[in-house]
Amino acid sequence: MRDQLELLWQLQVVEEQCRAIACRRESIKADKVRQLWQEIQLLSQNLSADKEKLECQRRVCAALESDLTKLIRQLCLLEERLYKNSSGSVRELEQLRIKQESLQREIHDREEEIFQLLENCEQLAERIANQETDLQNKKQRHSIGQRQIAQTVAKLDGEERGLREQQKSLRCRIDAGLLATYQTLNAKLAMPVAKVSQGVCSGCRRSIPTCQTCTRPGEIQFCDNCGRILFLE
Ligand SMILES: [Zn+2]
Repeated sequence: MRDQLELLWQLQVVEEQCRAIACRRESIKADKVRQLWQEIQLLSQNLSADKEKLECQRRVCAALESDLTKLIRQLCLLEERLYKNSSGSVRELEQLRIKQESLQREIHDREEEIFQLLENCEQLAERIANQETDLQNKKQRHSIGQRQIAQTVAKLDGEERGLREQQKSLRCRIDAGLLATYQTLNAKLAMPVAKVSQGVCSGCRRSIPTCQTCTRPGEIQFCDNCGRILFLE
């Protein structure tokens, strides 16, 4: 009986270790890695939208610049006519001057617009560069996190495999009746096998009467208080 109880005690230790592995599995910090992945997705979307916006602004800017070149050319031609046409009628000269002023205003406005747009493009390009750095950092952290989780899971899997093999082998060596009693108790009590050390039950810390531990050595002994199977050292 003592050998059987020794095996049962070992089985209880192995099963406790299996439960500890399950707890360690649950405590793996996968949430952080998942959150990082969501941030990467969002950042990628923003980045792509900003790149598109920058491209569009640059196209508008190029169109405005070409427009400006045309306006400047028009002004040059007009001024040429104006200065060469000093002998023209007053009315004609007046009209040319009005057109000249209007063109100058238009050129000024266009230049302001281009200047503003170039400034926006510069700010956007800077934001894109910052986002790209941020994205790279996040991707790197995500990949490290994923690797660490995979390593931890693989380690836990290995440990659990070893423990399950020990559990299986112990169960084969334990008497079926004793194993059934253990399993029944296990369903309602944590650690259903208690060691008796210096006459005290390790499960509930109560004293075990000496008559109980000495008189019936061949039978399974239970703690009168907590009901655990007693294993006398
Ligand atoms: Zn007890």
